[in-house]
Amino acid sequence: MIIAIDGPSGAGKSTVAKAAAKKLGFNCLDTGAMYRAIAWYALEHGLALDDEAALGEVASTKEISFGHVEGDPAPRRVFIDGVEVTDAIRTAQVDRAVSSASVHPAVREALVDQQRRIGRAGDYVVEGRDIGTVVFPEAPVKVFLTATDEERAMRRVRQNEQRGVGSVDFEEVLADLRRRDEADSSRAASPLVAAEDAVKLDSTGFTADEIIDRIVALADEARSR
Ligand code: C5P
Repeated sequence: MIIAIDGPSGAGKSTVAKAAAKKLGFNCLDTGAMYRAIAWYALEHGLALDDEAALGEVASTKEISFGHVEGDPAPRRVFIDGVEVTDAIRTAQVDRAVSSASVHPAVREALVDQQRRIGRAGDYVVEGRDIGTVVFPEAPVKVFLTATDEERAMRRVRQNEQRGVGSVDFEEVLADLRRRDEADSSRAASPLVAAEDAVKLDSTGFTADEIIDRIVALADEARSR
């Protein structure tokens, strides 16, 4: 069974997806990490972000895989072509580049193929922008998670502080989130938009636990149908 969690940057998707997956005994898949890995690869290898053919080639030939830190069931480690990029994909430089890499249909098609292959192998909570609309439109549970811009920026700053990577400047993070929302929502291929049958949850003012419990309840309902 697939649980699709979509929404803009910093809405809390990763936190709630990982915790809901743990409670349900599901795997989880962070599709944003896959787009970030492509952007990182392009920067690292000097590929132009607007070179759709080159980036599409990377997405269709370089394997992106996930790994675990010991004792943690969430697959937080990310690899592309065998190179670990767990921290490298969270830098401000990748934040700035990723929407340009994810705009290309050739990149999206290749990554969507990989995402479907991974998700169909078991029970998954999958988080991203187009999971309920494009990747798994048949998912029995779809959540569209939002929060105010300021709340999202605050959370991202705290997350970057904890990880020790990425910007911790509130104004810079807020500007980046808004720029990416705009780019992700206005692109032609698979724009960020709620699926018609998604449950819309605004996490502003709610604790992560409250949102997680709601998602687990939706999954339980779907399982008993
Ligand atoms: O979720 P995260 O903020 O890590 O995603 C990084 C970027 O990857 C987004 O801003 C978006 O451009 C892209 N993305 C996407 N489709 C997805 C997941 C992420 O286009 N399913």
